[in-house]
Amino acid sequence: MPADGTTDNHRLTLPPQPPPQPSPPNGNSNGIIPLQVPTNSNYRLRLNPHQDHKPESYDDLQSEFTPLLFSSLEKYLPHNMLNVSRESKHKYMREILRRYSDEGERNRIKKHNEYRQRIISNYQPLYRDIYQMNATTAFFVPSFIQAFATSDSNRDERIRNIMSEPAPGVYTFNMLQPGFCEMLLAEVANFEKWIHETRFRIMRPNTMNKFGAVLDDFGMEPMLEKLMEDFIRHISRIFFADVGGFVLDSHHGFVVEYGYNRDIELGLHVDDSEVTLNVCLGKHFSGGELFFKGVRCDKHMNTEALPEEIFDYSHVRGHAIMHRGRHRHGARATTTGDRINLLLWCRSSVFRELRKHQKEFESWCGECQREKRERLNQVVAAKKGEFF
Ligand SMILES: [Zn+2]
Repeated sequence: MPADGTTDNHRLTLPPQPPPQPSPPNGNSNGIIPLQVPTNSNYRLRLNPHQDHKPESYDDLQSEFTPLLFSSLEKYLPHNMLNVSRESKHKYMREILRRYSDEGERNRIKKHNEYRQRIISNYQPLYRDIYQMNATTAFFVPSFIQAFATSDSNRDERIRNIMSEPAPGVYTFNMLQPGFCEMLLAEVANFEKWIHETRFRIMRPNTMNKFGAVLDDFGMEPMLEKLMEDFIRHISRIFFADVGGFVLDSHHGFVVEYGYNRDIELGLHVDDSEVTLNVCLGKHFSGGELFFKGVRCDKHMNTEALPEEIFDYSHVRGHAIMHRGRHRHGARATTTGDRINLLLWCRSSVFRELRKHQKEFESWCGECQREKRERLNQVVAAKKGEFF
């Protein structure tokens, strides 16, 4: 399980990974997940969250895991742990998380944090203003801010109103101000100039993009975490609840660069995310359309796309597109100019854990759905055969 956003498995995958590891027999009847932790432990989480429980904030408590992870895990604590002190809950959850992430993983996270610190303590930002979430018209277009303005019961409706769904499971909306896009592009260029001058060896965003930069690595992690927490989680809760959109708890934020002397295109793949936000920052370009070929689970990753699953999207500067990480997609060649996009891969450790216990078909996989329909049709046909 990724303990925070700093895992190195920033993979874009296709063809599929090896078949999933066998999980232990599912749930005993009291709704508790055996968390595959070493025996001698009686620390457990519940399978079903306490929906009404309001989690505490862990922002000020230091540990190797992100504070948001604790807030989202809290609803899964056993009943008798819900009302103990915040410190006790923190300790309990940290124990579970530690047992879970092996030592190799913890070392890697530690090394990655040191790598980040080396960058942050040496790199001088160009625009400090964009390193902190500033939910005003400096960042976002007015329609976007207004949709989130208050957390009343109409908020979901207002969010729905700014969204278009040009294809099933693909949502687009106007999001970023041109001025903010300019500043972010200039900041990335400044960072790249610094890399060039200091010959600092940086890690690229993922296994397939050879150009671009990880924004989390040079100081933008808190801002992007806030972007996910204050905005993207609300959108995901409405549209992507089936893939854990209601419990997103970590992210991987980066920019990708396409054009002359950059990446040209990107083959069909899935993201290492539950929900992906992709915003075009500019500049001037032609081509570079995103193409989609349906949502798939591990088992069905290489199955054919149905005609209704095929969809092309042309980027518009400042506009965002959101889709499930498991929605197979790629980028067509950017034929002229430079195209730079902001990507936020949003993840849910809770969803990833729960999925291990899922035995049935996946509700969000196009092929699983098709198989289920087919089975149903066969049953209906057999029944008809009995009658006539
Ligand atoms: Zn499937």
